[in-house]
Amino acid sequence: MTVLVLSDIHANLEALEAVLDHAGEHDRVWFLGDAVGYGPDPNACVERLQSLNVEHWLAGNHDWAALERLDTSDFNPDARRAAEWTRDRLSKGVRERLDRAEPRADAPDEGLTLVHGSPRYPIWEYILDASTAMDNFASFESTLCFFGHTHVPIVYEEGIDGTLRLQIRLGEPVPMEGARWLVNPGSVGQPRDGDPRASYMLFDPEAREVSFHRVTYDVAAVQAKILDAGLPTSLAARLDFGW
Ligand code: ZN
Repeated sequence: MTVLVLSDIHANLEALEAVLDHAGEHDRVWFLGDAVGYGPDPNACVERLQSLNVEHWLAGNHDWAALERLDTSDFNPDARRAAEWTRDRLSKGVRERLDRAEPRADAPDEGLTLVHGSPRYPIWEYILDASTAMDNFASFESTLCFFGHTHVPIVYEEGIDGTLRLQIRLGEPVPMEGARWLVNPGSVGQPRDGDPRASYMLFDPEAREVSFHRVTYDVAAVQAKILDAGLPTSLAARLDFGW
């Protein structure tokens, strides 16, 4: 059975719907955090996720910022403004749903750890380079860890001999050949790898393989909503560039 793995939706409903259309029906859905923040549709995105029966639902730093569960003084000014805008608009039900999520989940029976940022610091740390990935392999027990937060799809594979290999192939299955994995599905709502298309991943637990997918969506519609809402214009512009 294939698992749909989503991360960093960031209140981008058009991107989320495009991904769900493209991916088709999945009985198992895992979400790695940041449902809200930056984008114009926080309530609608959380409600759409709720309709999917998400099995593992993590909190991200932007979710916690909107709930005032963490201090936004480390956020850049645009992110902080968006967090305040989101905070003022969350419905009670959405707030309650977000508040039940934590930034790390362990499923030892499946040999699996899920985090928003990193196993070492689940809410804040970005795994953006090989040395940070290497350090983090020491911070979880399982063979597999899925993480989000960087908005960049990637596989860090630790070999039996402790060497590290990076890989990603769009569309094709990537089999787990080494000893352990740290894998990021990329961001649904605000990709940051120079490709503006929404990113998601499918995971086949039996075959131990993942596949990465990219989907075009109506970027202009989201940009118009961002500007109408009075959110920072840079948050609209970056969607054109995947940054
Ligand atoms: Zn994020």
